[in-house]
Amino acid sequence: MRTYDVVIIGGGAAGLTAAQYAARANMKTIVLERSAPGGQCNLINDLENYPGFPDPIGGDEFSERFETQARNFGAEVEVEEVESIEPRTDGTYRVMTDEGEIETPSVIIATGAAHRHLGVPGEEEFSGRGVSYCATCDGPMFEGQPMLVVGGGDAACDEATFLSNLTDRVIMVHRRDTLRAQGSLAQRVLNNPRIEVIFDTVLEEITGAPNDYGIEAVAAGRLKNVKTGATTEIAVGAVFIFIGSDPLTELTPFVEKDADGYIRTNELMESSAPGLYAIGDVRTTPFRQLVVAAADGAIAAHAASKRLEDLRDRALAHSLS
Ligand SMILES: Cc1cc2nc3c(=O)[nH]c(=O)nc-3n(C[C@H](O)[C@H](O)[C@H](O)COP(=O)(O)OP(=O)(O)OC[C@H]3O[C@@H](n4cnc5c(N)ncnc54)[C@H](O)[C@@H]3O)c2cc1C
Repeated sequence: MRTYDVVIIGGGAAGLTAAQYAARANMKTIVLERSAPGGQCNLINDLENYPGFPDPIGGDEFSERFETQARNFGAEVEVEEVESIEPRTDGTYRVMTDEGEIETPSVIIATGAAHRHLGVPGEEEFSGRGVSYCATCDGPMFEGQPMLVVGGGDAACDEATFLSNLTDRVIMVHRRDTLRAQGSLAQRVLNNPRIEVIFDTVLEEITGAPNDYGIEAVAAGRLKNVKTGATTEIAVGAVFIFIGSDPLTELTPFVEKDADGYIRTNELMESSAPGLYAIGDVRTTPFRQLVVAAADGAIAAHAASKRLEDLRDRALAHSLS
């Protein structure tokens, strides 16, 4: 069986940063990533808000840099899917993957969260070409154009308010007759002259047309009133979908989660299971961004390294007594 000081599950910004810090602290480190290292980063067209990168950088190039830096410090990054994690009575963990088993005293969960999709025609087709799940990330690309926001919760209200600083026409559609967001956020939206809220309405289809660069991109959305059945077509440059996200936590049924299913941690990124840390989008956090995920990764690796030193000191003291 393979053994490592730390096993990091998920090779996104959080996991690769944890890998870099762990390897640099001389921990024998492996990152297990089931698809492409970089995670959601690979979906970003032009990354504009990562500190230290004043010019936009493509998400794929940014991902490669994260991976290279982790490998340069000695971390192993393997394409492997983790299938289960077994906490053992001696405080260590057995990690089962599609390639075999690994033993480790510390596991860092960095599996991220998946944005919920509407599943309407045009959503998949125009993803990255006007359809987005992150206003902070993609909103500036559509400055001055009418933008459609789907959803009525905190994220939808927050992001619609953000978008209203970029355009004077944000149309928000919500399938219910009141906003679900907290009072102050909802009120801010309702008082905003740049945001028009259309209740009892769903987005049925997204259609496209060639944009200024000749690329087929979002041009309109077809809306349907769920009470009357009436449909309307509305011309927009972008569609932002905020109908929630689901953390990928199926590997850790044994740790404490919040009401939405995100893993709860303390400020050291420790979960309720000793030696098991959670970082990035998978944990309870007020802001899901790359810089936050990276910071979480650094903290978890630091905490895991300190814990390992303590365990080794205690084992040494025990053997000498
Ligand atoms: C379209 C889009 C644009 C964005 N734009 C920006 C932006 O401009 N600026 C910004 O700061 N943030 C942006 N974000 C948010 C940012 O990408 C995320 O906050 C960040 O990537 C989260 O990193 P993470 O490492 O926590 O998770 P992820 O990047 O989701 O990585 C998790 C990884 O875990 C892997 N994984 C899951 N389960 C397993 C398993 N069982 N075994 C092995 N591997 C597994 C997944 O394959 C994935 O690669 C954007 C997000 C999206 C979707």
